[in-house]
Amino acid sequence: MKNSSKGLRLATEVVHAGEVRPYPHHALTLPILETATYTFENTSDLRQFMEARMWGLAEGRVEYGRYGNPTVSAVEAKLSALESGQAAVLFSSGMAAVTTALLSLLYAGDHIVITDDSYRRTRQFCLTLLKRWRIECTVVPAGDLEQLEGAIRSNTKVIVSESPTNPYLRVMDLKRLVAIAERHKVKTLIDSTFATPINQRPLEFGIDLVVDSATKYLGGHNDLLAGVVAGSESLMAMIRQNLWVLGAVCDPQTAYLIQRGLKTLSLRVAQQNESAQKVAEFLEAEPSVERVWYPGLRSHPDHVVARQQMEGYGGVVSFELDGDLEATSRFIDALQIPLIASSLGGVETLIEQPALMSYYELSSEEREEIGIKDNLVRLSIGIESTDDLIADLAQALRPS
Ligand SMILES: *Cc1c(COP(=O)(O)O)cnc(C)c1O
Repeated sequence: MKNSSKGLRLATEVVHAGEVRPYPHHALTLPILETATYTFENTSDLRQFMEARMWGLAEGRVEYGRYGNPTVSAVEAKLSALESGQAAVLFSSGMAAVTTALLSLLYAGDHIVITDDSYRRTRQFCLTLLKRWRIECTVVPAGDLEQLEGAIRSNTKVIVSESPTNPYLRVMDLKRLVAIAERHKVKTLIDSTFATPINQRPLEFGIDLVVDSATKYLGGHNDLLAGVVAGSESLMAMIRQNLWVLGAVCDPQTAYLIQRGLKTLSLRVAQQNESAQKVAEFLEAEPSVERVWYPGLRSHPDHVVARQQMEGYGGVVSFELDGDLEATSRFIDALQIPLIASSLGGVETLIEQPALMSYYELSSEEREEIGIKDNLVRLSIGIESTDDLIADLAQALRPS
């Protein structure tokens, strides 16, 4: 596993990075500082702070909760270290992270390029809301870097992509993407939610901004919503200023839960990588499974790129059953361990049929057009016993 700037491995950094001790009362753990605002001793104290702030020198304190919180800041420092960034900012959700970052980079008249299997709400934001502000968006197929480069115009400001993507786990060649972006002086934003910094660190490849929905692996327990953006000091300062205006801040309770989740991130992800690989191999050998999508399999179109740029292939496995919509639902209903729910990355194994979850309102033909088949299943592996998970899948796939 990689070393951080301090020369420590990530398994150590998830536990210790960002923590500035001693904490009040010599507590071992990060205190949750629940306050909406902060006090001043007297007017002269206030004036001193305001003067320092005007010059950007007000270190160590702020005057109001939307501008900062020590619990939140400590977790941001940990996340920045894990993503190899110079700074990181937490948000109230992954979507708040994506939208605040993009709004910070774009002006009316700009153009962006986005890959087609990006998170559905990210695409919706780019294609509908940004359009209202005269920001144009070209959608290109994930995995086709020639077409992506061809879509860049003189007013293109950002390339937005994900790696691995949902639900087919397509892996973007980050080295080649950065080369293209540098040729055209365009910024790059990668949603790395499915990888986590344990498996992939886009900033190390020269990507400008990395986004994670902390709702997934970082929190890891399916009990919170949050998002994070990491990148250079200058970009993050700009994004933070816009967060103060747009307002989707992370609250200290949630930040603490993320911190608690992060302590076991490297253990959880290691287990999920290993378990997902075994499950993917098991499924690929099953006659009633038509196709398995997992970057750790040689059969995956991006296996070679994934092997070069990732340290693990993640905990999500997608597969197509030999059967129709109904047969696929019957298989899911026959499972004992996975819970039917959208989301991913937590300790519980979750399963969904995208045709009936994220894409329910579309017709079967419309779904087919965007590549969401009726027989497609997305499995987010938790931390249960791999043997139990495989035995459960086997009994549901081979009904007697
Ligand atoms: C869940 C998810 C998001 C959105 O995050 P929220 O925390 O639900 O707002 C964005 N991108 C990807 C890849 C996701 O899986």
